[in-house]
Amino acid sequence: MARSPLVPLHNPGCPTALSIAGHELVAFSISGVSTYVMAPAMDACFDLGHCPVEAARLRSVLLSHVHQDHSLGVVRHRALRQMWGDSPSRVFVPHESRDALVAVLRAFEAMEQREPSTTLDQDVIGVRAGETFALSKRLSVEAFSVAHRITSLGYTVSERRRSLKPEFEGLPGLELKAARERGEELYDHRTHRALTYIGDSTIETLERATDLGDCDVLWLEATHVGKTDPAVSARYGHTHLDELVALFRARPALFGRAHIVLKHWSMRYGRSEIEQAIERVPRALARRMTALL
Ligand SMILES: [Zn+2]
Ligand SMILES: [Zn+2]
Repeated sequence: MARSPLVPLHNPGCPTALSIAGHELVAFSISGVSTYVMAPAMDACFDLGHCPVEAARLRSVLLSHVHQDHSLGVVRHRALRQMWGDSPSRVFVPHESRDALVAVLRAFEAMEQREPSTTLDQDVIGVRAGETFALSKRLSVEAFSVAHRITSLGYTVSERRRSLKPEFEGLPGLELKAARERGEELYDHRTHRALTYIGDSTIETLERATDLGDCDVLWLEATHVGKTDPAVSARYGHTHLDELVALFRARPALFGRAHIVLKHWSMRYGRSEIEQAIERVPRALARRMTALL
C-alpha cells in the first residue's frame, strides 16, 4: 500500500503549536512516521512516536496503541528523564500491550548494560477500556476502546473545576476565611471534559460513540483523502476524510461543542493535495476544525 514519499511531506518535521479553547498544545503527526501531542498544562503527552526534549519534560505518556509511530519515543522519554534525575516517566498503555512494552524497555537496559530499574514495573501502567484513572489532583482520564488494527484506546481528560458558591460571591476575604474556618463549603465543584484523544482509528469508533463531542478539543485521525478508497482506509484501520464529512453531515450533534483537530495524514500525499481536500469540507465543519499540517 505504502510507497516512499517522492513529494515534499506535508509536515517537514516541525511540531505545530495550537491554542484551542484555552488549551496550549504542541503536536506533530505523519502516518507511519510519528505522532505525538504535548499538553504541558496536563504534564502529559498523548502518543509518542518520537520524543522531542520538550516531551520528556512532561511526566505522563498516554499511548493509544503501540504501533511504532505512536510509541517508540517512550524509550527516549525514560532515558532522558533518568539522565536529568527527574521522576520516572509514567506510561499508560492498553493492558494487552503492557508486558511487551516493559520487555522492550528491559531489553534496552540490557543492551546498554544498565542496572535494571526498580520502578519500571510500576511506571508502565496497563489500562483497560472503561477505566478511569487520575493524572493529577485536578485531572482524571477515562479510557475507551478504539477500533484499529491492534488494541487501541482513546482518552478523555476531565478537569475538576470549582467556582465560589453564589451566596459567597462579593464577600470580603475575611468573611470567606471565617466561613472556611467554620467548616463551610465555599465552592461548587464540577467536572469539565477538556480533551479527547483518539489515535489511529476507523470511522467505527465515532459511529458507535454517543458523547464524543462533549469536550473542548477532540483529536481525530484522517489518514486518507481524495481518491484513496475509504474501504482501503478501513482495511488498514484508518479513517478517510470523506467518511468523517459524511458522519458529520448525518450526525452533527455527535460532534457537540468540540473543536476537532485532524492529524495522521498519510505521507503519500503532498501538502497541496491535503489542502485541496480540506477546502472541500463543508463550512459548518471546516470552521470548527483544524488540520494539523
Ligand atoms: Zn499511526
Ligand atoms: Zn496504528
